[in-house]
Order: sequence, then structure tokens, then C-alpha cells
Amino acid sequence: MSKVIVIGSGLGGLSCGFILQKQGFEVTVLEQGAQIGGCLQCFSRGGVKFETGMHFIGSAAEGQTMHRMMRLLELTDTVRLNALDADGYDTISFAGELFRIPNGKEAFIEQLGGYFPKEKDNLRRYADIVQRIASASTLNSLTSDERDLAANTEYQTRSINEVLDELFHDELLKNVLAGNLPLYAAERDKTPFAHHAFIMDFYNQSAFRVVGGSDAIATSLAGSIRKMGGQVLVRKKVSRICLDDTKAIGVETDDQCFFPADHIISTIHPARLLEILDTKLIRPAFRRRLASIPNTIGCFSLYVKFKENTMPYLNTNYYGYRGTTPWDCEHYTEGDWPRGFLYMHHCHEDAPRFARGGVVLSYMNMSDVARWTGTTVGHRGADYEAFKRRHAERLIQEVEKHQPGFAAAIESYYTSTPLTYLDYTGTEGGSMYGVAKDIALGPAGRVPYRTRIPNLFLAGQNVNSHGMMGVLVGTIVTCQELIPTPLCSTFSS
Ligand SMILES: Cc1cc2nc3c(=O)[nH]c(=O)nc-3n(C[C@H](O)[C@H](O)[C@H](O)COP(=O)(O)OP(=O)(O)OC[C@H]3O[C@@H](n4cnc5c(N)ncnc54)[C@H](O)[C@@H]3O)c2cc1C
Repeated sequence: MSKVIVIGSGLGGLSCGFILQKQGFEVTVLEQGAQIGGCLQCFSRGGVKFETGMHFIGSAAEGQTMHRMMRLLELTDTVRLNALDADGYDTISFAGELFRIPNGKEAFIEQLGGYFPKEKDNLRRYADIVQRIASASTLNSLTSDERDLAANTEYQTRSINEVLDELFHDELLKNVLAGNLPLYAAERDKTPFAHHAFIMDFYNQSAFRVVGGSDAIATSLAGSIRKMGGQVLVRKKVSRICLDDTKAIGVETDDQCFFPADHIISTIHPARLLEILDTKLIRPAFRRRLASIPNTIGCFSLYVKFKENTMPYLNTNYYGYRGTTPWDCEHYTEGDWPRGFLYMHHCHEDAPRFARGGVVLSYMNMSDVARWTGTTVGHRGADYEAFKRRHAERLIQEVEKHQPGFAAAIESYYTSTPLTYLDYTGTEGGSMYGVAKDIALGPAGRVPYRTRIPNLFLAGQNVNSHGMMGVLVGTIVTCQELIPTPLCSTFSS
């Protein structure tokens, strides 16, 4: 049996591990942290569980793409989903004016057309383009393979704002359509329209929260890997990939263990991979290119525990902005932070009436917390705690303006910064979604699935795209490198 070592136990690592173990490989997943899951990790305080990364997923209704992927990964019986409000799974608020985004193409055109009647025909054109890009590309439709990228090439090279400017006249509508951009940390003139289209299509189909927390996905995948005879080990930080003259032969962990391997799949950030890969087989030009790909911005997270039976459960994701644009919130100053936020409740049971916990996310650059680099979680000092408290209070005030009663409903809160993400997942600069997409970089901005080391492959959010869909598409493409039969055929609906 061929041995596969998977580095990292986030969604990318566990889904690769599951597929390869199922296909007869002997899989060992190595995780540096004490808990599996990476961005699927949750933590509990005062009896309430908080999600640190993944909060909601799309296209997961019976027959839709994510549902088929989840079935392949044997997640449909173990992971319970709770549908967000179909008439408004997302709510965009510009200075208090609300726009609700519904599921379904026709409902989307009707509802947005109701807010912007003069733009109704353009909304249909927009919805057609979004659908065409999503269904024509890669494995998002699970019908074609990675090499069929032609249909969306044009929209990979044009920015979101450029295409919206071409399609619409109304500035406010353009901003509403870009209102969920914190989900992918989009930047003006940089992020490709195709990236926006995948995400809009994903959630337009359907939108769900995971009941009890997104760590259920990690628990299920790891449980299945172990049941099939594979291993998922925690507190095993890979410190070196060991090679002979032509290929990788295994990995070493920081507790001096050696794990032999026929194949290695790295799902960690490429910057972390380069640190543990000391070989002439990797050329300096490749190193320089990977190191120069920009990363998405980090975030400040405010985790709120609500007083019991006080805060009605919000069955929508709320994007609050101070002004009338979602763009450029990453260019905040010390004085005007936070320019925007994303506020969500956690779903602790089926159709809850009251929320027990929620999270507010707002962009934050690593440079804001760089002075505490090198400190460890829980031991960063009083000035770091004061920094976090100051930012938490400002964020609470900002949410309160949009959601009166929010502040009074808080029993306690906890916070994290980009440093926390760096420590818990190894993501460069504490970035939210790993490497950023930039139309100016084209192929030079892509992290490859393969390397010049013939048995070292890459997967995870940095290779294809982040998120439940982006990561799983990458998993399929990477695993396909080791499996002779087309994986796509196993998704028959
Ligand atoms: C705040 C936030 C909100 C999000 N919300 C959503 C959402 O609502 N919906 C959605 O679909 N997606 C969302 N995402 C994105 C999604 O969670 C991620 O794209 C996805 O979970 C990433 O999985 P991954 O396996 O690629 O990486 P990660 O989850 O980062 O996993 C990498 C793992 O590798 C481990 N590791 C690193 N270095 C080593 C080493 N040397 N040795 C061993 N292990 C190592 C890390 O500890 C980590 O566990 C969100 C992300 C964030 C940060």
C-alpha cells in the first residue's frame, strides 16, 4: 500500500486524507496544533461554542454541487445543516439602508429589481453571466475537469468593479452586489470578477449554517479516516520534508519523529511549505514567485456570548458599512476603523429562537499587531489585551448603531487578531483566506498543485480558492494526480 503523508488537518488536509484512504492509500494526516480542523476549529467559553473560520456554506441542498461533494465525503449523515433565510440569507446595510439578498436566480432578479426597478434587465444579464461562469468552469459543476477553463477566462482577467461598471448604471446597486466582499476579501481593481461569480452562484443556490459548529465537518472526516485505518495525529508539526536526489522520502516532525512517505500532500500556506523544504530541486525563481504572491487581509474577530434568551436569532449574515460603499475597508486608518463589519450568529440547534453566541469580523492588517510577533497565545502582555479591548469596544459601538440592543445583550466577549490566525493555522500575515487573487498577476499569481518534486503535491485554500467549495475543488484536482480513474465520475447525482 502506498503511504501518503498529508501536512495539515484543515478542510484541505482532511478531505484529501479521506479520499485517498478510501482509494486504498495508507494515509497519515499530521497537524501542528492540539486541535484538528484549521479554519474549521471551534472553541467553547462559558458553555457556548464559537466558530473561528467557516460560518456558512452554499449549494448544499439535495442535488446541488456541495451536497454531492458532501455525500462523497460521507458528511451528509454526520453534519446537520440549518438553512439561512431564503428571502435574505445576506443582508447588506449601507448607513442603515438594508438590502436583502435571496436564494434562487429568479428571486434574486425580482427582489433586487424591486429595489432598483430601472436595472432589472441588467440584473438578469448579471445573473446569467454569474451562472455561466460558475457552471462552465472547473469542477464547480462537477461535470467537467480542471482543464476546461476557457469559458471564464475573460472574467478571470477583469476586475469585479470593472464588470459591474459595465453592467449597471446605479452606483448603489453596484455596491449592494459587492456588499458580501468580506467573504473573499475582494479589492478594487484587483480581484477577478470570476472569483465573485463563484461565490455569488454558490450562495445563490442555497445557504446553510452548520448546526453545532463547523468543527463537525472536521470531526466527521477525521473519524472516517481513522475508521478506514488511516491516522490523524495532532501536535505533530512538520519541521522538514526529507528528500533524496530526486524525490521526497518522508517528513520529520518537531518532536524528532520521521514519517516515511511515497507521496506527500501539503495543505499549509506556501510560505510555511518553503520554510520546511530545503532542496535544490526547488528553483530560486519558484521560491521567489511563491513568496511574492500577495495575501488576503487578516481580521479582528469579536466573539460574543449573549445573555440567555435575549438576542433573537438572526437567520441572515449582516454586512454593516458606515458609508455607501463596501470597497476599500482594508485601507482604514487608526481613526476610522472599523469601516465595515460582518456579523453572524452561530446556530447551536435546529432553528433556534435565540442566539447563544455570535461573531463580528472586521478587517485588520498584521502591521497593527506586528509589535507582538513572537509572543504566544495567552502570553502577549497587558498592552495587547488593552489593544484588543479597545478594538472590541469600537466594534461593539459600530454594531450597536446597526443593531440596537446588541451591546446590552452581551454577557461576555472574546477576541482574536491576525496573530491568532498565524499561530493557529500558519496562514501568512494572519490572512483570512490565504493567497489573494489579482488580475494583474495572471498565472504568476497561482499556486500550483504540483512541484518539481514528483511526489510532492499541494492542496488547500491557497491552490484553487478558499472556502468550502474552493478547497474541495482543489482537493479533487490534487487527489486526481494519484488516482487513475476520474474522481468526477464518483459524483454521479
Ligand atoms: C474568519 C473566517 C471566516 C470564514 N468563513 C467562511 C465561510 O463562512 N464559508 C466558507 O466556505 N469558508 C469560510 N472561510 C474559509 C475557510 O474556512 C477556509 O478556506 C478553509 O477552511 C481552509 O482550509 P485549509 O485546509 O486550506 O487551511 P487551514 O484551515 O488553514 O488548515 C491548515 C492546517 O495546517 C496546519 N499546519 C500549518 N503548518 C503546519 C505544519 N508545519 N505541520 C503540520 N500542520 C501544519 C494548521 O495548523 C492548520 O490546521 C473563512 C475563513 C476565515 C478565516
